[in-house]
Amino acid sequence: MHFEKIRTILAEWGEPAYRFRQVYEGATRGLAADYSELTSLPAALRGRLADAAPLRELEVTDERESRDGTIKLAFRTGDGFPLEAVAMRHRSHRTACLSSQSGCPLACTFCATGAMGLGRNLTEGEIVEQLLVLARIVRDRGGGRIGNVVMMGMGEPFLNYDAVLGACRLMTDPAGHGLGARHVAISTAGWVPGIERLAAEPLQLRLALSLHAPNDELRTQLMPVTKRYPLERLMAACRDYRARTGRRVFVEYLLLEGVNDSRREAAELARLLGGEGFHVNLIAYNPTAAGYRGSAPERVSAFAAELRRGGVPASYRRSHGSDIEAACGQLAVKGAAARRRELRRAAVR
Ligand code: SAH
Repeated sequence: MHFEKIRTILAEWGEPAYRFRQVYEGATRGLAADYSELTSLPAALRGRLADAAPLRELEVTDERESRDGTIKLAFRTGDGFPLEAVAMRHRSHRTACLSSQSGCPLACTFCATGAMGLGRNLTEGEIVEQLLVLARIVRDRGGGRIGNVVMMGMGEPFLNYDAVLGACRLMTDPAGHGLGARHVAISTAGWVPGIERLAAEPLQLRLALSLHAPNDELRTQLMPVTKRYPLERLMAACRDYRARTGRRVFVEYLLLEGVNDSRREAAELARLLGGEGFHVNLIAYNPTAAGYRGSAPERVSAFAAELRRGGVPASYRRSHGSDIEAACGQLAVKGAAARRRELRRAAVR
């Protein structure tokens, strides 16, 4: 969806300003899938709008539901790029996990999306639309409202900063979908300029940092982005974010058996995060083609205990939807490489 385009077209057609509000509210609050559902608009206008600026731009190419109620949707953009989005259920509340890019250029070794490479950045409208499509499905199945969003699907949000922030502003607009800003989290692999910019935003979003290693040597092996932004710069940016916003940083730490899960590494992590301002979420590894193994439960609890001894609060995050490859790091579209070949062939012709 492209609300600014719709607003401009309606203005050019000389329609009164409330017409745009009707479309906007119908799409964001009413979760309308196309103009035909907006019955407060004259039928002729609905038809003209459908031709000039379709309400939805993404095509849903696949939908799967896992045993735990997680729903994963695969989409394709108008120009053929694949992406995925997931809705999860935690007790009473629902969380949507959205993509910021089709693919991702950062190539973290444990992540299936990283193996795809980057297709392209998604637009603000393509990001918001993922939420609205998921929210509609959840609502129609009696699942209630989606109250939380995490930008933890495909892509590095801070490599697409403006579109991601624009989407967050739309999703939190009280006149629209109306999520609480504190219920929207942006997760980064450690792209420092994005953390610095977020620290200066008036919108009170949550920041999550995918850390996964307590020193540069190990982190570089797992996450090549560390060469560009070593831990010293990264932690300085996080401390500055904390100082400027008063908000904590949620650290994600993926436990890989024999790689980053020893007591020594836990102690090193506690020293790195020393003092307040951080909360660590230990996350289970979801199998990808990378061949790592997740840590055994005893190692997870020993790691958490060591962190707490070092004064760092830690919790363990259960995984959702791994039976349908909807869990963290499993979002990768099998057809992505084929699509790139297809585009190349079309270019040759
Ligand atoms: N680029 C952003 C957001 C996408 S990744 C970021 O790095 O934060 C969302 C989360 O899933 C990150 O914490 C990422 O490290 C984690 N993740 C990636 N692969 C995983 C896997 N195989 N198992 C579990 N978590 C994984």
